[in-house]
Amino acid sequence: MRIFIGKGVYGAIAIGKISVLHRGEAKVTRERVDDTAKEIERFRSAKKCALCELDTLYEKALPEVGEAGAQIFDIHRMMINDDDYNESVIGMIERQQINAEYAVALTSDNFEAMFSAMDDSYMQARAADVRDISERLIRTLSGGCGMDVPSANEKVIICADDLAPSETVSLDKSQVLAFVTAHGSANSHTAILARSMNIPAVIGVGDAFLSAVRDGDIAIVNGGAGEVTLSPDKHAILEAEKKRSEDHAAKKRLDELRGKENITLDGTKIKVFANIGGIDNIGAVLLNDAGGIGLFRSEFLYLESRDFPSEDEQFNVYKRVLESMAGKKVIIRTLDIGADKQVGYFGLKREENPALGLRAIRICLTRPEIFRTQLRALYRASVYGELGIMFPMITSESEIRQILEICADVRDELKREDIPISDEVEMGIMIETPASAIISDKLAPMVDFFSVGTNDLTQYTLACDRQNPQLEPFCDTHHEAVLRLIEQAANNAHANGKWIGICGELAADLTLTETFLRMGIDELSVSPSFVLKLRETIRSIDLRPHSDTTYLAQHTLPTGHPFI
Ligand code: PEP
Ligand code: MG
Repeated sequence: MRIFIGKGVYGAIAIGKISVLHRGEAKVTRERVDDTAKEIERFRSAKKCALCELDTLYEKALPEVGEAGAQIFDIHRMMINDDDYNESVIGMIERQQINAEYAVALTSDNFEAMFSAMDDSYMQARAADVRDISERLIRTLSGGCGMDVPSANEKVIICADDLAPSETVSLDKSQVLAFVTAHGSANSHTAILARSMNIPAVIGVGDAFLSAVRDGDIAIVNGGAGEVTLSPDKHAILEAEKKRSEDHAAKKRLDELRGKENITLDGTKIKVFANIGGIDNIGAVLLNDAGGIGLFRSEFLYLESRDFPSEDEQFNVYKRVLESMAGKKVIIRTLDIGADKQVGYFGLKREENPALGLRAIRICLTRPEIFRTQLRALYRASVYGELGIMFPMITSESEIRQILEICADVRDELKREDIPISDEVEMGIMIETPASAIISDKLAPMVDFFSVGTNDLTQYTLACDRQNPQLEPFCDTHHEAVLRLIEQAANNAHANGKWIGICGELAADLTLTETFLRMGIDELSVSPSFVLKLRETIRSIDLRPHSDTTYLAQHTLPTGHPFI
C-alpha cells in the first residue's frame, strides 16, 4: 500500500480499479517541405477541422458543466484563431521550410514557456490550454484520433500525467469513478471542470505515482484530503468505505434541512447567504436553499471577457441573477480587479506589490468611466429584485463620499433618461482592510451595511500574502487581531443601526460560527455547497449563557500550532 499526496479538487471518496490513460500521441518529426504554400493550406484546413471539433465539445459540455464550464472551448477557439499563434506557425513554415506539425509543436513549446513564466497563477495554468489546442492540431494534421478512452464495462479511476480540458469533457462520465493526474494546477480549467462535473479528483500527485500505477490496480481517491492510496490494504478499504457511507448519510441529513430556518436552540436567527461568481452558480444557490446572495464577485464578468463587458451585457447578467432569486436579497460587489485577479485589457502597470496596489475601488475611482458603466447596469437591473451594491477595499471616509457622489450622479442620469430604477438599493462596503474596521464607527453612518472580507482582512492584518502557501504556518486564521477587528466592526455597525455580514472564507469555518453569533453577526455568506452544513451547525448552537469563556479565550492557538 502506498499513499500519494496531491491537491484535492472535488471532495468525495472513490474506491475502484485504475485505468491508465494512454494517448494516441502523434510523434512529431521535423521534415523539410518544398511547397510551403501547400503546407500552410494543410495547416489552415487542420484549423477548420479543429474548430469543428471544439464546437462539438462545447455542445457536449454545456449540459454537463454549464455555460461557464463549457466556455473553455470558446477560449480554445480564440486561441486557435489567435494572430500571434498563427503568425508564428505560418512564419516558421515559410521561413524554415518545415512541416506544419513541427511548426505547431515548436510554437506550442514557445507559448507554453511564455505562459509558464508569468507571475500570475491563472495565466500559468493557460500553458495547459495551449498544449491542448496544439495537440489537437497535430492530431488532425497527422490524421490521428485522440486518446484511447477506457472501454471497461465497470467504472474506473482514470489516471494520466495530465488531462486537457477537452479530454476531461470527452470522458464518458458514466464510466468514470474519479480521476488522478500526476501534474496540473488547482487553477487549471480541468480542475474547474472536475468540480462542476462532481467527479472526485486529485491532481498533481507527481510522476512517482504514474511509474507505480498499472491498469487494474485498486486505489482509493480521497478528493477532500487530496490523497490517493494505491493498492490499499483491507483496513484502508474498510475505513474509506466507512467514510464514504458517512459522507452519504451526512448529505442525506443535510438535504432534510432544506426549507428549515437558520435558528439556534435559543431562538436566535441569522441569515445564511451564498457567494457566487456568475449566473451559472444560481442553480446551486437555489438547490442548497440559500436565503440570498451575499457576494456576487462581479469581476468574473470582466475576467471571462476579452474586452470590457458592455453596460447591456452586464445589465443582462445582473437582471437574470435578480430575477432568478425572485425577491431574495442579491448583493453584487463592484469589480475587484487587481492583485491576483489580473485582466490584460485593463492595461494596468506591473506593480511590485499588487495586493497593496491599484486594485478594486482604487481602479474604479481613478477610471470612473469603467465604474459608471457598471453602476448604470446595476441600477438598471435594480427594478428586477432586491439589490444591494457593495464596494471592495474601502479604507477611508473620503472614498465612500466619492462613491456616493458618483452613484447619485448615475442615478440622476438614468432618471433623466426615463430609465426606471429602484429607490431601495442598499449600499454597503466590504470590511477587508484593517483601516476600515478601525474607523468603522465613522463609516457605519455613511452606508447601509458592512460585509467582512476575512480573506483580505486576514492577509492585511497579519501581513501574510494570501497567495503564498509557504506562509500558511504564519497565518493563523483565528488570530485574535482579526477577530477583534470583526467584533469592532460589528459593534459599530449595530451602534448605528446597520447590519453586518461576513462573506470571506471564515464565514464557513464552523468552529467560529458560535463566536460570530455571539458577536451579533447578522449574515454569513458561504459557497452554495456549504449553506446546509452551516445551517446544521447554527441549529445545534445554544447562545444562552453557559460558560464564562469569551470568544478570545476559546480561540487561542490550538495545541500543535508550530509556534507553541
Ligand atoms: C475577502 O477578501 O474575504 C473577499 C470575500 O473577497 P475576495 O476573496 O474576492 O478578495
Ligand atoms: Mg477581498
